[in-house]
Amino acid sequence: MNSCLFCKISAGELPADKLYEDENAIVIRDINPQSPHHFLAIPKKHYPAVHDIPQNEMPPLFAGLMNAVCQALNSSGLHNAGYRLVINSGDTAGQTVPHLHIHILGGRQLEWPPG
Ligand code: 5GP
Ligand code: ZN
Repeated sequence: MNSCLFCKISAGELPADKLYEDENAIVIRDINPQSPHHFLAIPKKHYPAVHDIPQNEMPPLFAGLMNAVCQALNSSGLHNAGYRLVINSGDTAGQTVPHLHIHILGGRQLEWPPG
């Protein structure tokens, strides 16, 4: 049995506030937002991190994932306002859900460098 949180949300087995969905990916609102707009773009296929994706699967996976990111950017207006895309990988980067996802952050002035 797959106990992965984002696999369950992707499969519709757990609820989420969805902005976008297609056969490859979903974009949901983060349950604990760190900015006024905080979305998560999640590929439906399970990989813990980018370095786990086989080379031949990289192009279609990222094409689908980045399309979902752009759909959410356009529908939320962040494409005009500015935004940040973040992938946390591993404990030291603060990854808490081991299913690859891209954070989409916006709606406030974002600091650099990040903490
Ligand atoms: P990570 O820490 O792995 O980079 O990001 C995981 C993100 O998932 C966190 O920002 C956290 O708030 C979010 N998250 C954790 N559980 C849930 C959930 O059940 N639903 C939603 N929508 N977001 C979640
Ligand atoms: Zn998963």
